[in-house]
Amino acid sequence: MTEDLFRHDAYLRVCEATVVTVEADAVALDRTIFYPLGGGQPGDSGRMSWDGASATIVNTRYGERGAIRHLLEEGSAMPDVGEIVNIELDWDRRYRHMRMHTAMHLLGSVLPYGVTGGNISAQKSRLDFDMEGGIDKEAVSQALTELVRADHPVKSRWITDEELDAQPELVRTMKVQPPRGVGKIRLLEIEGVDLQPCGGTHLKSTAEVGQVRIGKVENKGRHNRRVNIHLDD
Ligand SMILES: [Zn+2]
Repeated sequence: MTEDLFRHDAYLRVCEATVVTVEADAVALDRTIFYPLGGGQPGDSGRMSWDGASATIVNTRYGERGAIRHLLEEGSAMPDVGEIVNIELDWDRRYRHMRMHTAMHLLGSVLPYGVTGGNISAQKSRLDFDMEGGIDKEAVSQALTELVRADHPVKSRWITDEELDAQPELVRTMKVQPPRGVGKIRLLEIEGVDLQPCGGTHLKSTAEVGQVRIGKVENKGRHNRRVNIHLDD
């Protein structure tokens, strides 16, 4: 099991770690700042260096039993098990994922419908809503901009099934029901705006989202509207 430092501090850009397993094209470490593909958010990319050698990390994925695998560029040198390595994120890309991901939570609060899918990338992101009818793009863009400007704090906390059961009002405010039976649940809260279970990487305040704009709204069936968003910079 790899310690997921990014869930405690999403702003870590570099870290030192020890190699636990080495496969043909992937390296698992005892801890990492690299987010593995999941929840609609892409896996991180960056660089790994050790003892005079280095390799490009092209993607990050979950392996078995909570291991996080750093996929190295084909033909790269590979470190040995037990070796100490330095890893460094492609921060520009990850930071855009954090801005997009946080903007997605804001979009979900502006459009109070069930979310049936979503995808985040550094260029554009989308959420699919279970809804009929049209969307006033101008009004949604304006509401998003206001939430960004209000600079709401964004916080995560861990909660056990028991703590959640003792606070049913929390569940009532969530759009997505938390998974039960895994011991603990990570909640993401944008104070006064959104509360839901989420394991992704987010900003520490909504102002960091910056210039955000609603793009195409696609009609994907009678009950499905796909809303695209862009970061304007
Ligand atoms: Zn999230």
